[in-house]
Amino acid sequence: MRLKAKLTFGLAFLFIVILTFGVLSIFYINRLSSDEEKILKNNYESLEYDNNMLKALEQIPQNKNAIDIFETNLTKQEKNITEVGEKEATELVRKNFKELLADPSDVSNYSDIRQAIQIINDLNQQAILRKNAIAKKTTEDVIFWLSIIFTILTLMAFVIVVNFPSVISNPIKVLAEGIESIANKDYSKRIHLKQEDEFGDLANAFNIMASKLDEYENSNLNKLMFEKRRIETIINQMKDGIIGLDENKNILFLNAVSENLLGLKEKEVVGKYAPDIALKNDLMRTLISENNNQQLKIFADGKESYFSKENYVVKNDDIIIGEVIILNNVTPFHEMDLAKTNFIATVSHELKTPISSILMSLSLLEDERIGSSNTEQKQLMQNIKDDSDRLLLITSELLKMTQVEAGKIQLTKQKVLPEEIIKYAIESNKTHASQHQIEIKIQAQQALATIEADKEKTEWVLSNLISNAIRYSYEHSNIIVTAQQKNNTIVFSVQDFGKGIDPDYTNKIFDRYFRIPGSKEEGTGLGLAICKEFIEAQGGKIWVESNFGEGSKFSFQLNIA
Ligand code: ADP
Repeated sequence: MRLKAKLTFGLAFLFIVILTFGVLSIFYINRLSSDEEKILKNNYESLEYDNNMLKALEQIPQNKNAIDIFETNLTKQEKNITEVGEKEATELVRKNFKELLADPSDVSNYSDIRQAIQIINDLNQQAILRKNAIAKKTTEDVIFWLSIIFTILTLMAFVIVVNFPSVISNPIKVLAEGIESIANKDYSKRIHLKQEDEFGDLANAFNIMASKLDEYENSNLNKLMFEKRRIETIINQMKDGIIGLDENKNILFLNAVSENLLGLKEKEVVGKYAPDIALKNDLMRTLISENNNQQLKIFADGKESYFSKENYVVKNDDIIIGEVIILNNVTPFHEMDLAKTNFIATVSHELKTPISSILMSLSLLEDERIGSSNTEQKQLMQNIKDDSDRLLLITSELLKMTQVEAGKIQLTKQKVLPEEIIKYAIESNKTHASQHQIEIKIQAQQALATIEADKEKTEWVLSNLISNAIRYSYEHSNIIVTAQQKNNTIVFSVQDFGKGIDPDYTNKIFDRYFRIPGSKEEGTGLGLAICKEFIEAQGGKIWVESNFGEGSKFSFQLNIA
């Protein structure tokens, strides 16, 4: 039965209970009252008429009105005949009354009339008793039937009241459990309600939804499994080491390369907390450190290999869900870089001797004792000297760079006065500066503390900065060289008022071989990179501040001895 029908039935039943009870009560009360009425009205009236007739009969000889009273009551009695035998008795009264009127002296008529009236009286009294008994019986019947009906209806209402809530609440409970299972991703849950009402429909709809979700989940799972296997295959085929961690730093996967590098087996470490593994594995410790873009030298496959480490945070909707560590195998680049460094070192070294010999020959040519040269020849010789100087500078810069790249910076630290370094650097750039009508001003504090430094390399750095300042300044301008004490360091600065540096490039100018695009001055892009290496090798720091179009200020600091 449908829920709606059940509700309608339940309410209708209660309505019928109330209606039935009401109708029956009214019916029985009516019946009772009609019985009472009958008893009271007809029979009591007859008794009253009889009584009146008897009284009038007593007074007939003395009172003439008594005959009329008798007549009136007899007439009323004749119209109020209700009992069996009452009619005959009334007719007898009429007959005797007529005889009495015809012969008032006949005394026998009086007694006949009294007897007949007595019969009517008896009949009515018996009727009253009988009807009273019937009314009593009816009352008992009413009480009996109303009690029966009341009991039955109360029982039925009780059964309905007790059962009806569970008719609604039970399926709702089952449905709520089903929905909870679905919320907990248990898509195998089904609801079995064997009822053909709205709850049955709801259960069917729920089962269809659950099976669709189940299907969707399984198809998604298959797809995900397929994608997972595909990505695993790709990751395993890669030449780079890849390690996946979850958001709690538990290991999710290692590819073959990282297994080999770490000396670990994936199946032994998956699910384990990476910092725990790092306690016994140095490489793992380096890998999970925050330090990105680290170059690592690892002995693998029987040779030294080079890897660059990168840590990527994996996010989903801005929530961190894991981390991927990639070990880029940069060994081939490293090998090529080494070959390049060796090649440059060899070439620069080999070039130094012929260049020196060109310069030697030039100085011999300039000697008047060998022969005089004309102005044009002198100019040509000067050009050759300038170019040879430049070539020598380039080869020496390249050589220095090869030393830096090979990690072969040999430091000879000693106690040096900052003034000495400034003096040497300015001296070596004097000619160059005067050629461009540039004045180098010194603004050094008096009595600066000595520094602990490699004198030759520091002089080279300051000289290089001054040389750059001259090259990138306008003619007739100034260059200010300063040295001042700050905390436990001496800060050297070279400030020029040249074209300055585009802010886009300030971070790059210390990179090897980097030259600002469009730089007209000739150069290798190595000078600042070597300066940086030399200063940092001594535990110092180098930096630039520049206003594009107004000039630059290059500074470096070294520790006081
Ligand atoms: P280069 O041999 O090209 O001068 P450097 O390493 O010394 O190589 O300098 C790198 C680049 O930085 C230069 O190409 C130049 O554009 C820029 N640079 C260096 N010093 C200055 C300076 N004082 N003023 C403006 N630009 C400069």
